[in-house]
Amino acid sequence: MEKTDVVIIGGGAAGLFCAIEAGKRGRRTVVLEHAESIGKKIAISGGGRCNFTNLNTSADNFISANPHFCKSALARFTPADFVALVEKHNIAYHEKKLGQLFCDGSSRQIIELLLTEASAAGVEIRCRTTVFDVKKSEPPASAGRLNAASAFEVKTNSGTFSCESLVVATGGLSIAPLGATDFGYRLARQFGLAIREPWAALVPFTLSRDALRELAPLSGVSLNASVSCRGAQFRENILITHRGLSGPAILQISSYWQPGTSIVINLLPDLDALELFRAQENKDVTLANFLSQFLPRRFAAAWCALNFPSQRIRQYTPKELADIAHKLNHWELTPSGTEGFKKAEVTAGGVATDELSSQTMAAKRVPGLYFIGEVVDVTGQLGGYNFQWAWASGYAAGQDA
Ligand SMILES: Cc1cc2nc3c(=O)[nH]c(=O)nc-3n(C[C@H](O)[C@H](O)[C@H](O)COP(=O)(O)OP(=O)(O)OC[C@H]3O[C@@H](n4cnc5c(N)ncnc54)[C@H](O)[C@@H]3O)c2cc1C
Repeated sequence: MEKTDVVIIGGGAAGLFCAIEAGKRGRRTVVLEHAESIGKKIAISGGGRCNFTNLNTSADNFISANPHFCKSALARFTPADFVALVEKHNIAYHEKKLGQLFCDGSSRQIIELLLTEASAAGVEIRCRTTVFDVKKSEPPASAGRLNAASAFEVKTNSGTFSCESLVVATGGLSIAPLGATDFGYRLARQFGLAIREPWAALVPFTLSRDALRELAPLSGVSLNASVSCRGAQFRENILITHRGLSGPAILQISSYWQPGTSIVINLLPDLDALELFRAQENKDVTLANFLSQFLPRRFAAAWCALNFPSQRIRQYTPKELADIAHKLNHWELTPSGTEGFKKAEVTAGGVATDELSSQTMAAKRVPGLYFIGEVVDVTGQLGGYNFQWAWASGYAAGQDA
């Protein structure tokens, strides 16, 4: 049995950051990672350049049953704090757009930063270490925190650890080949904590066979549009794929979508389509040709085939033109599904925030147990927010564990 102060399960962004902070406080800290190396998601993030934070981070960029929960942690470890660390390690970075900060070089630099800080803080990292079982031994009622030592027993394939504080940083269900497991949710349930049922977020949509017949041949075509669903709206690119729709606007809205509901796409977000029809002097032009002034030509043709057979503008009745215009500005589409956890950038839902202290990420009903990062029901929008949550929640737990 190895005795230590803090065991962290999961060597991803949140787990490593928490380990650094706990180590800096003089806590003997061990990170247990079942994969052969740490930080696999960091390595592939941001197209290999890691979008490590977003300068505009606020609670509004997160989805959670309790939209206020993330505020405290985000306020105590801000994007500027992470940028200071990036600068301390001489990592060159740039703002791509909308406050999104990326490494100029490679995501590996962020992993090196974390490893260097962890080593300086005396953190021990054990890879290829799978946790099988966790038990909590109840300290005597009279024991204070200091006497509550060795509250958890953590059984792994390479021995058993006993620790005072156990931090669960096992991430979500997205992309199993990178190490994702449901272990964090199972552990939460074992200790009686509620879970908000996880769902795939930041994920491409699949479409019905009919829609695909027209759109799939346009795979690779992208357009700038605004997409809305259940009160959320994003203006960015939409990409047509051979299976459905992707691109930043679609990934963003997917986090808010529920099966069976529709999304609304405004194909001409800066224009009133009816006004365009009224202003068009040459009524002999076909609808598809007319629309190709504003939309990619192949897309305009496919959209007409799917919705309104293309003919000369003058051949439509005023009512038909009004319907076409309405559909251009409010194209309602019901995805048949999403590409699921296989392709989702993140997992929404997770350990219910009601169960945790927003100050420390500690489970209110299980002293010494903490949940941080993506395993918690706090999910960022696209653009560096998920890493900022990983750093901030890891920092919060690292001050307390
Ligand atoms: C392709 C892709 C690109 C992304 N790009 C960005 C981006 O640019 N910016 C951004 O903000 N977010 C991005 N994200 C999201 C971001 O990577 C995650 O939100 C973030 O990594 C979550 O950190 P985490 O530490 O909570 O979980 P993870 O990084 O998933 O870490 C969890 C760790 O726990 C380990 N683990 C799981 N179960 C066990 C177990 N039973 N025992 C031991 N270890 C276990 C896993 O192997 C993993 O190493 C991207 C995600 C993907 C998939």
